[in-house]
This record gives sequence, C-alpha cells and structure tokens, in this order.
Amino acid sequence: MEFKTIIEPFKIKSVESIKMSTESERVEFLKAAHFNTFLLKSDQVIIDFLTDSGTSAMSNEQWAGIMRGDESYAGAKSWERFYNAVHDLTGFEYILPTHQGRAGERILYGHLGGKGKVFISNTHFDTTRANIEFGGATAYDVQIDEAKYHDVYHPFKGNLDCIKLEKLIIEHGAENIGAVILTVTNNSGGGQPVSMQNAKDVAAVCKKYNVLFILDCCRIAENSYFIKHREKEYENHTYKQIAQEMFALTDGCVMSAKKDALVNMGGFIALKDEKIAEACTNLLIITEGFSTYGGLSGRDMEAIAIGLVEVFDKDYLYYRIKSTEYLGNKMREKGIPVMFPIGGHAVYIDSAKMYEHIPLNEYPGQALVCELYRIGGIRSVEVGSVMFGKYDENGELIPAAMELVRLAIPRRVYTQSHIDYVVEVFDELIKNKANVRGYKITKEPKLLRHFTAHFEQL
Ligand SMILES: *Cc1c(COP(=O)(O)O)cnc(C)c1O
Repeated sequence: MEFKTIIEPFKIKSVESIKMSTESERVEFLKAAHFNTFLLKSDQVIIDFLTDSGTSAMSNEQWAGIMRGDESYAGAKSWERFYNAVHDLTGFEYILPTHQGRAGERILYGHLGGKGKVFISNTHFDTTRANIEFGGATAYDVQIDEAKYHDVYHPFKGNLDCIKLEKLIIEHGAENIGAVILTVTNNSGGGQPVSMQNAKDVAAVCKKYNVLFILDCCRIAENSYFIKHREKEYENHTYKQIAQEMFALTDGCVMSAKKDALVNMGGFIALKDEKIAEACTNLLIITEGFSTYGGLSGRDMEAIAIGLVEVFDKDYLYYRIKSTEYLGNKMREKGIPVMFPIGGHAVYIDSAKMYEHIPLNEYPGQALVCELYRIGGIRSVEVGSVMFGKYDENGELIPAAMELVRLAIPRRVYTQSHIDYVVEVFDELIKNKANVRGYKITKEPKLLRHFTAHFEQL
C-alpha cells in the first residue's frame, strides 16, 4: 500500500516558534524594509524560503556529536572522524576543511586560476564565478539547450553540453583550462540534476585533453536520488554508491557543507593530486587554519561527518525530493508557471509569465516576492533582473535572461502542513494577479545590489 501523504521521516524533539503576523502588519514590515525581503527580520517571516543554505535542522545524533567535538588544535579525534567520512564518500586522499564552500573555491580556484586561465562549467554558481573572475580568469557556462526552456521536460536538465565544452577547450588551448567544474545538482540552473552518463562524458573529454575535472558537490545526495530513479542502469545502486561512482570520475571536489551535509556552517576541498593539495594546504593554513581543522571547530567536523551519512538515508531522500516536487506540482496544477521538471531543493517561478502586464524594467520578480510576503508571510528571493540586471550607457535596464523567483526549501525544517499553507497562499495570489504593480529601485549599491537595494511600489 502506497499512501499519498509524504510523512516526514523524523520526530520533532526541539521546536523553534514561528511568530504569526497579520497582513496589515506585514504591509508595514515590508515598507520599513523598503520592499526588499533581505531587509526583513527573520521573526517577521512565517515561512522562510530565502535559501536552503545553512538552514537545515540537525539531528539528535549531530547534536550529540557536537558535545563530543574534540577541540584540540592538531590531530583531533573529530578531524579523524571528519576525514574518514569525507574520504569514504569521495575516495580522495587529500582533504582540506574550510569554513564554507566559497572559502574552498577561493583557495582551489585561486591556485588553479589567474589571468589567461579559463574555467568551464554547466553553470558556475555565483560565488564560484566571483572567485574565478576575482583571480583574473574567465568562466564559461555551457548548459544543454533544453535548460533554456522552462517548461520542456528533460530528465537531466542540469547536464553540461560536451560539444560546446570540447570547442572551448580547443579554442583556448587545453593548457589554459583551469578546470572543468560540474555542479550537481545545478543550483543556478534551477536545481536540475546531472546524469551519470553526462559525468562520464565530461570525464572522457577532460581525460582526452588532460584537463582537471572538479565536482561542485554540495547537492550530491539529491543528485544521486534523481540518477537512481531516472537512469535505468542505476536503479539497483544505493544513493551512496551512485555518489561514489561520480566522485571516482573526477579529480577532486569542493563542497559547501551548508547544503547536503545537513549543517549550518562548513565546507571542504577533497583532491586526488598531491601537488595541488600541497599548494592548497599552504593557502588553507594562511587563510583558514591549520590543516587538521582549517576553517572549522572540532564540533563542526563531527556534525558534518554525521550529516554526510544521514543525507544518503533512503527515507530522508524520498521525503526531501518528493516534498519539493509536491509543492512544485501543486503550483503547476494551479497554472503557476514553474520551472519544469521540479528540481531538488527549490521551486522556481517564471514571474515575467506570471505578471505579463508588468514590464521587465518594473521588476515582475520583485513584485511576486513582495506579494508572497504580503499575503502569506513567505520569504522568497528574486533571481532575475534585480539580481543580474545591468544598465546600458543610457541608463536603460539590460534585463537578465530570465525573471525567476526561487522558493528554496530548508532541509528537515518544514512539515507538509507548512507546505499546504504555502499552496493555499498561491490561491490568494492568483486572485489578486491583475492588481499587482511593478517596482522601481530608489537606492542601490554598485555590486550585488539585490541584498541591499531599496524599492518603491509604482
Ligand atoms: C552554496 C553554493 C556554493 C558556495 O557555498 P557557500 O557555503 O555558500 O560559501 C557553491 N556552489 C554551489 C552550487 C552552491 O549552491
């Protein structure tokens, strides 16, 4: 017997209360935050879908691990447990603990990059691109064409286009390629998975040209779920075996543990090559900390070691992927233009399609973000022209490629009734669709304006 309700495969042992608010209170909060949800206080939010990064709930076992943390400066027992957990999963010998993903990127891509170097990825996550460009190198995204269409089904929309990859390698010369980076799942590309076949194809191209192949593996467990259920060859593999097979195709990885390691802070680099590891370890010691703790305390390493095992639990992954899909499919049934198929960690809405009457230079995505907050106290994030828009020489907006709004789901935090509440909020949102107005930016910084910009309703 299969039941329809996706029950959370955990009991709740500790709770954090949610402060309820009324719509009129939220209108005031929104005004005070200049219509930028990044400027809201967390207790003004009912359901926080701003990000899945560092927002996971830890298990009782992880909390027990935190008490056990060995805070010795060198050679701590917690380092040993962390090393063993990462080594067992990735197979790599050289492991460098960092305080979060971008610290690992700064070290690895700082070492591999620099002026004249080129990095190629399915999609560089924004911190990855920033670290590569900061070092003077160039970053190219080569996604498969299907990824451009929000409503076209493809089982692995996160795949890297190997023909474009090979062209770029030839064009720039293999010796100038810093690394090829496969991001699984493809966060900026809608949380879409990458197939094992694609990873094998990328590995073959990298081998042919003797180019380094790095996995951005922060959602490796979620990606493994999709492979098991969509790639026939892998239906009898465990999720962990699938992940291990993918790591074995690569030369190393960078992980933000704030995602699939189920912790609130942490990350690591893991590498096959001793020389690269040595150079990175020198940078680690200068910028993060000694090699047996890097950017982490002993207790953090304990929690990561345990989280990396828990995340591959089949009941957890079923709940994780199915509950994201549940929300996305319910919205799709209501006619909300969501990115399809639904990805692993978030649901993305095409706001330009949702609010066709709002021109792009009046930021339909920001309008949707504000509506979700006003009606339901739901915090989401605009991933469109507020985040990526630029201006031409006349000060006219050059819009982003897509006007998306992301609802990112924290791990093990919300229950199905929270999700059903969100679905209900969309009913209200649809009713009010025609009355929604656009926004103008009244104040913005030069870089990363979405974090601090001020808006006014038109
Ligand atoms: C979050 C993320 C990073 C950066 O990690 P931080 O821990 O936020 O520094 C890198 N790549 C991807 C795909 C991510 O989602």
